[in-house]
Amino acid sequence: MRAVAEQRNDVPSGDTGASAPRSVAVVGAGITGLVTAYALRRRGVQVTLYEASRHTGGSIRTTHTDGFLAEHGPNSFVTSAPVEALIAQLDLQDDVVEANPDANRRFVVRDGVLQAFPMTPTAMLTTRLFSLRAKMRVLLEPLVRRGASATDESIASFVRRRLGREVLDYAVDPFISGIFAGDTEALSMAHAFPRVVELERAHGSLSAGLMAQRRRAKSPAASAPEPGAPGAPQETAPFARARLISFVDGMQTLTDALEASLAGTLQLGCPVRLLHRDGSRWVVEAGEDGATTSRTFDAVVMATPAHVLAAMELPAELRAMAAPVERVAYPPVSTLTLGFARADVAHALDGFGMLIPSQEKRSLLGALFTSSLFPDRTPDGHVSITCFVGGARLPERAREDTDLLVERVLIDLRQLLGVRGEPVYAHHVYWPRAIPQYTVGYQAVKDAADATEATNPGLYLGGNYRNGVSVGDCVASGEQIADRVEAYITRAG
Ligand SMILES: Cc1cc2nc3c(=O)[nH]c(=O)nc-3n(C[C@H](O)[C@H](O)[C@H](O)COP(=O)(O)OP(=O)(O)OC[C@H]3O[C@@H](n4cnc5c(N)ncnc54)[C@H](O)[C@@H]3O)c2cc1C
Repeated sequence: MRAVAEQRNDVPSGDTGASAPRSVAVVGAGITGLVTAYALRRRGVQVTLYEASRHTGGSIRTTHTDGFLAEHGPNSFVTSAPVEALIAQLDLQDDVVEANPDANRRFVVRDGVLQAFPMTPTAMLTTRLFSLRAKMRVLLEPLVRRGASATDESIASFVRRRLGREVLDYAVDPFISGIFAGDTEALSMAHAFPRVVELERAHGSLSAGLMAQRRRAKSPAASAPEPGAPGAPQETAPFARARLISFVDGMQTLTDALEASLAGTLQLGCPVRLLHRDGSRWVVEAGEDGATTSRTFDAVVMATPAHVLAAMELPAELRAMAAPVERVAYPPVSTLTLGFARADVAHALDGFGMLIPSQEKRSLLGALFTSSLFPDRTPDGHVSITCFVGGARLPERAREDTDLLVERVLIDLRQLLGVRGEPVYAHHVYWPRAIPQYTVGYQAVKDAADATEATNPGLYLGGNYRNGVSVGDCVASGEQIADRVEAYITRAG
């Protein structure tokens, strides 16, 4: 990996061409901003990447202490064609680690006992996670009528209608906590899971839709996405299979590699405070108190969390138009990575982790069996478990101090996993605003973002509140924004 670092720096700087290069400010060096800046620079555009904190990566950060590896945010992500292409461009193929195949096993807690989530029809028949009545209800799913297509339905309402209450409580509720740290009654099915809604719309039921998908996957034309399906992959390159991955040294490998390739463009510790138009160009004022500088660009990409707009000085009409964007909710989450001597944990930890339904009334939203997922995350003879606390379910608990949090989480781990003794390692990260909530009515946010861009040529709004929260979504979105910015500055030039 290190031998190819020079290649990463080979990305053209954009200032060697004969004609004056167009200049773009990218604001926020999380994965979205890094990918946008990287993709623009590869196209020969002159980029300045502003980052408020002293490091790049945003939610992606890895800490190594005493032989333990702790992720502050994402622990793994699912690949797609844009992700695989980025990994190849950065020459990171040898650094990728795929999750242990045992990671297919996910546990859900019911009545204080871990139950493997059923992944096959046979497992569904025999699982103790659902009652006989709930299983019968799932079998009736093909008979349930389509919902009204104009309704923006909550996830809870959609699942209750199609699959019944118990599937909502013991399957969907814990999975939603795992992805959004969110509340199924508040989140919008159409905005959080557009492809599932599309299955119902196109095929009448989820069962029929899934069967059609399986048939298509087996047919020779399998790689073609259903035309016009929301969330259908944009890519045209052949893509073998999605992998659940991280990197040998953790997730930060990806953002460090992007940072290394962006040498000379990055302004760390440089929050953008003010944005306004000057003719067809954009003025960006950035820096710490008393040391701000002002520069003019052809285009600006805001790749920050949505609420950052509220703290910035903006032209009044832009502020008014973007108001619904500023109001997107981000509940708090604490991540707590705990290390134990292997002998002090009774459970085999043979899976991805455990998800905990709201009904179980526990402190934990869920926990990843981190040292089972990827090798070399702990010293020999130890295991690590990454716990998630708070979210929309229990926001106040995310804010508790480390000692109290460890105490509360240990109660759950002792009862659920047979943990004995004390942790030998604890790493706590508090995210005051963790993940954007795609709530019912989210179309107003998307419309406001679209209208803001349409009426402010050269301004782009990106980040995980726009096109999906996963790392893979953010990579794809960064690439797409770069395409749009390039088209704009080419037209304008
Ligand atoms: C606890 C947690 C666990 C997660 N787990 C997973 C997972 O397992 N798998 C997965 O795929 N996804 C996961 N996610 C989601 C995923 O990590 C995020 O959606 C994604 O990393 C967000 O990237 P981003 O670039 O859009 O935003 P961010 O990472 O939030 O980056 C935005 C950047 O903008 C900067 N900024 C803010 N204001 C300014 C300003 N005024 N000027 C300049 N810079 C500014 C910030 O400092 C930050 O660096 C998780 C997220 C969290 C929080």
